[in-house]
Amino acid sequence: MDRLHDLSCVLHLHSTHSDGTGTVPEIARAAEQAGADVVLLTDHDTLAARRAGEEGWHGAALVLAGHEVSPPGRNHYLAFGLDEEIRHRGLTPAQIVAAVRERGGFGFAAHPFASGSGRFPRVSADMRWEDLECLDGLELWSFLADNGQRLNSIRDAVRFIARPERFVTHPPEHNLREWDRLGASRRVVGIGGLDAHQFGLRVAGRTLRAMSYRRSFEQLRTHVLVAAEPRGELDHDRELVYSALRTGRCYIAFNAIARATGFRFFAERFRGERLEMGGEAAGGGWTLHARLPRVADVRLLRDGEVVARAVTQALMHEAQGPGVYRVEVRLRSHGAERTWILSNPVYLR
Ligand SMILES: [Zn+2]
Ligand SMILES: [Zn+2]
Repeated sequence: MDRLHDLSCVLHLHSTHSDGTGTVPEIARAAEQAGADVVLLTDHDTLAARRAGEEGWHGAALVLAGHEVSPPGRNHYLAFGLDEEIRHRGLTPAQIVAAVRERGGFGFAAHPFASGSGRFPRVSADMRWEDLECLDGLELWSFLADNGQRLNSIRDAVRFIARPERFVTHPPEHNLREWDRLGASRRVVGIGGLDAHQFGLRVAGRTLRAMSYRRSFEQLRTHVLVAAEPRGELDHDRELVYSALRTGRCYIAFNAIARATGFRFFAERFRGERLEMGGEAAGGGWTLHARLPRVADVRLLRDGEVVARAVTQALMHEAQGPGVYRVEVRLRSHGAERTWILSNPVYLR
């Protein structure tokens, strides 16, 4: 039976240990208020929060500290599971990814598909990943970079900051196509990140009102399905979250339009043999199952093509041979159809 527990995470954010505007306790409180279970902190080039003993439970929120490896003018990488920062001087992006892996960590390319917008200075073209082939994880949907590139006027920016749930529709199609292409040869874990600083947005020379940590935490979540109940012990609970992220047992949810807790996607065959998201297996006889906390428009994709679609709360589909299977769920909200949930794939090879 289903013994997995769903924890919702806010991921990719900066505290006063780098260029954020909130302290770790303030951020943890904002997460608690927004109803997020886990905060995955990624200060630029520092694990100061970890050294300061700020990792751990703050009330109902678990704070875990990774770091954003941030070579100036080059690609950024969100690294987790390390005791020390990566010294990136002179390393190429691929060498940074390899260094994290060699030290037993794991990570995700930060805002890998950012294309830049002249009016949105935080997003620059050099943030776009030059070498996707070295990755086994990426920020598939970056709340700031991927929506920021659509801001072409102060009016757009005001709409985005005031009511992101009315402005944001889908992740860029390009991100999904590239992810599907990479997944054909290996597992690549997709996550959703915020890049939250409690930021003020500079558009056309003016700084607009900031979006608070709390409000940004209500937007995009990465849910992990963990194998046991958290115990309130840092080492144990961190391992639960990290092993789910590492293996792709996670999904992305646009939380501002509806809470996604309860979503499941897996493959099953014979007597309860079960493959969770991120799992890889050979051989036939698999049936794919998607389950939702409410009725929505569910699409099952195989190698990037829709093979089943229904407005339902539970979709079942017999796999027709090998393929990379994943689910996209859409919901109508505020007058438009919006992406609500993106699963990680089940890989039938
Ligand atoms: Zn960055
Ligand atoms: Zn960042």
